[in-house]
Amino acid sequence: MSKCTVLALAPLGPPEVQEQLDSEFECHLVGRDGALDHLIAQIGDRVSALVTTGGRGAEAEVIAALPQLRLIACYGVGVDAIDFAAAGKHGVEVTNTPDVLTDDVADLAVFLLGALHRRLVQGDAWVRAGEWARSGGIPLGRSLRGRRAGILGLGRIGEATARRLTAFGAEILYYSRHPRPASEWTYCESPAALAEHSDDLIVCCRGGDATRHLVDAHVLQALGPQGSLVNIARGSVVDEAALVAALHAGGIAGAALDVFENEPDVPDSLFGLDNVVLAPHIGSATLETRRAMGELVLENLRARRDGRSLVTPVPQG
Ligand code: NAP
Repeated sequence: MSKCTVLALAPLGPPEVQEQLDSEFECHLVGRDGALDHLIAQIGDRVSALVTTGGRGAEAEVIAALPQLRLIACYGVGVDAIDFAAAGKHGVEVTNTPDVLTDDVADLAVFLLGALHRRLVQGDAWVRAGEWARSGGIPLGRSLRGRRAGILGLGRIGEATARRLTAFGAEILYYSRHPRPASEWTYCESPAALAEHSDDLIVCCRGGDATRHLVDAHVLQALGPQGSLVNIARGSVVDEAALVAALHAGGIAGAALDVFENEPDVPDSLFGLDNVVLAPHIGSATLETRRAMGELVLENLRARRDGRSLVTPVPQG
């Protein structure tokens, strides 16, 4: 029996997962096996599944160029870069990798917050530069205990982050479009109200048009000069120009960011600030989680190949 043809727009994390994809499917990987245009011209008419990442997504032109396409399997939970209108129009289903990455991303949110408030990055540079011996210690940090942490988007990652911060002694507030009356945490009516009542605003909602610049100059102003921002969701959720301006003007106290509006480009003007912690989009980037994400992509591809229900379909619309 001939193998299903898969076009992979990006490699699946750990090499053994990509090897598994190569062994079970006829996989053509952009970059390794040729440029996208070349691959589409060569094998486009028999591709039944597309593998992509949250960052790479899938644009309408690629979807339209693959007449046999039935599945887009996203290696990541954020599917905002996939053109759902085009997928729907061509009868293509989408899967993602929820749950398996939740703990690592929530851990990173807490690590970033801790790094910011305890000045870990600044302290590391201080020690390496010999300044500890020359000049003494660094300025005092802030305790996580007793701080009011505002979770923007109480989904899987938001809730896991809230649980972790509760263990650190923080008070939890949140905003999502749908309040959770059963939750023990305090609901705020809007992102601005959440920012106003929080010491730390932690962005955990999904990306895409509906949340674009949900954190804007007005929300940052509500967060105020004592407040800090953490973003582990999507760069698009925060108005980056407004954030840079607020950091430079002392409008907010600090920021810890894993995601940016134009990755991998990060505004140079952030590099000189010591009240900023920058990470290169590593929320799910552990061997364990990337393996689990890759396995879930494979499970969805196998399900589609074998005519079974998809394991983690993303509802359309
Ligand atoms: P999820 O369970 O679907 O949670 C997303 C939350 O966003 C939902 O609770 C939803 O609540 C909220 N939301 C949607 N629109 C909103 C709006 N307009 N205002 C406020 N909240 C809104 O997804 P998840 O698994 O927690 O993942 C969340 C996001 O994290 C992903 O979409 C992805 O972009 C990002 N992520 C980043 C990394 C990384 O490496 N840094 C890794 C994985 C995921 P309501 O429907 O009630 O509004």
